[in-house]
Amino acid sequence: MAFEYAPAPESRAIVDIAPSYGLFIDGEFVESSGGELNKTVSPATEEVLAEYTQATAEDVDRAVKAARKAFEKWSALPGSERAKYLFRIARIIQERSRELAVLETLDNGKPIKETRDADLPLVAAHFFYYAGWADKLDHAGFGANPRPLGVAGQVIPWNFPLLMLAWKIAPALATGNTVVLKPAETTPLSALFFADICRQAGLPKGVVNIVTGDGRTGAALVAHPDVNKVAFTGSTAVGKEIARTVAGTAKKLTLELGGKGANIVFDDAPLDQAVEGIVNGIFFNQGQVCCAGSRLLVQESVQEELLDALKRRLSTLRLGDPLDKNTDIGAINSAEQLARITALAERGEAEGAERWSPACELPASGYWFAPTLFTNVTQAHTIAREEIFGPVLSVLTFRTPDEAVAKANNTQYGLSAGIWSEKGSRILAVANKLRAGVVWSNTFNKFDPTSPFGGYKESGFGREGGRHGLEAYLDV
Ligand code: NAD
Repeated sequence: MAFEYAPAPESRAIVDIAPSYGLFIDGEFVESSGGELNKTVSPATEEVLAEYTQATAEDVDRAVKAARKAFEKWSALPGSERAKYLFRIARIIQERSRELAVLETLDNGKPIKETRDADLPLVAAHFFYYAGWADKLDHAGFGANPRPLGVAGQVIPWNFPLLMLAWKIAPALATGNTVVLKPAETTPLSALFFADICRQAGLPKGVVNIVTGDGRTGAALVAHPDVNKVAFTGSTAVGKEIARTVAGTAKKLTLELGGKGANIVFDDAPLDQAVEGIVNGIFFNQGQVCCAGSRLLVQESVQEELLDALKRRLSTLRLGDPLDKNTDIGAINSAEQLARITALAERGEAEGAERWSPACELPASGYWFAPTLFTNVTQAHTIAREEIFGPVLSVLTFRTPDEAVAKANNTQYGLSAGIWSEKGSRILAVANKLRAGVVWSNTFNKFDPTSPFGGYKESGFGREGGRHGLEAYLDV
């Protein structure tokens, strides 16, 4: 196991980071009315990457006004013209994907292998996909002449900063809406880089506006009276607060919230393949994934064999410098998130679950958490119920398919699940009983822009992606 930390500073040279950033309003980078600056740090080293602006309510108002002004012309453009801009943006993202992958890895802490091979290709794919819809809206079953809503206020989290931006901005622009987007406070840099891509693509001023800042900026955006549509991805607690703010207004709302996905392994599953899927399910992006397979439900008869294989596999994972292309496990995004994960893991131990991690030395600076397994977990344990949003897997067992379904559904969430079995009939029967927005079979964490994504229960409502993702941005 190679858990050593070897910084690769030469990768930094691939992308230019300014010492400080303004807000992107009406096609220009501008200063805030308030003058407050925040810092964003590399989670792997705690080095300050840049300063960025804390947007005030007044700044948000300026951005919404710019978006409103731009809406008239943008919504009147033929879909084929809007498509050209989206295609241009998609191509520039592809051309600049090395810079963006390094920037995202620096600001978020996730391995370059992931930003390069998963985040960035998916970001470009979303813009290509929705570019293809822009001139077909009249023929998509929405009825004649579906109309855009107006100004979309979009608030996104830090776990997939650029991908969440793509999920939100691409369908909004394709349908003729204009946007004010607020990235998360720990990962503002790729959204600011994207603002520059909008300029490079010649996107008309005001169609996309980026306001950086913390929850205060997000709250001002979702409460703004001239925002017609609110799209939020983040925690269930903040999602509920936003739902209360929006209630009683004419705003449309979609919420993508937390999850506690079950990965269900039956005794006839291809176990080697299942091990890879379990690892991908919970250690991809350090488990900071809303649809992570954070609960492993394993059939009792194969528990021992599966856990032995899983532990062997975990002992080969490489944790360390996220810029090293051999790294599997990067840094946790922030000190706060690390503290949350640490506290929940300690709670697991205190409540009697058995904790295991591969031998590993964590780097001295930065925010790190070793891949962790909990066995002897019951449904009463906090770590079986609460979203940890970190590299921590809770293992539970079951005897029958019905018991597996009952345990998988025994959660306040309903975002994702996985089924591992050689029997197609079993997969279909179980999948139909799971209350989860996405069910993977014999794979996990597969994403595609053509497929709708979203939750049941406290995982939120509305769908992003696919044709369904357009509905949230149209009056039909
Ligand atoms: P968070 O809710 O704290 O923050 C998300 C965003 O909301 C940030 O931009 C933040 O600044 C902003 N915000 C905070 N308070 C606000 C307020 N009162 N009004 C408006 N905006 C506000 O969540 P987080 O810690 O950044 O992200 C982790 C959570 O997001 C996890 O629970 C995870 O499951 C969820 N998530 C869900 C999905 C999904 O698609 N369902 C995707 C990614 C993350």
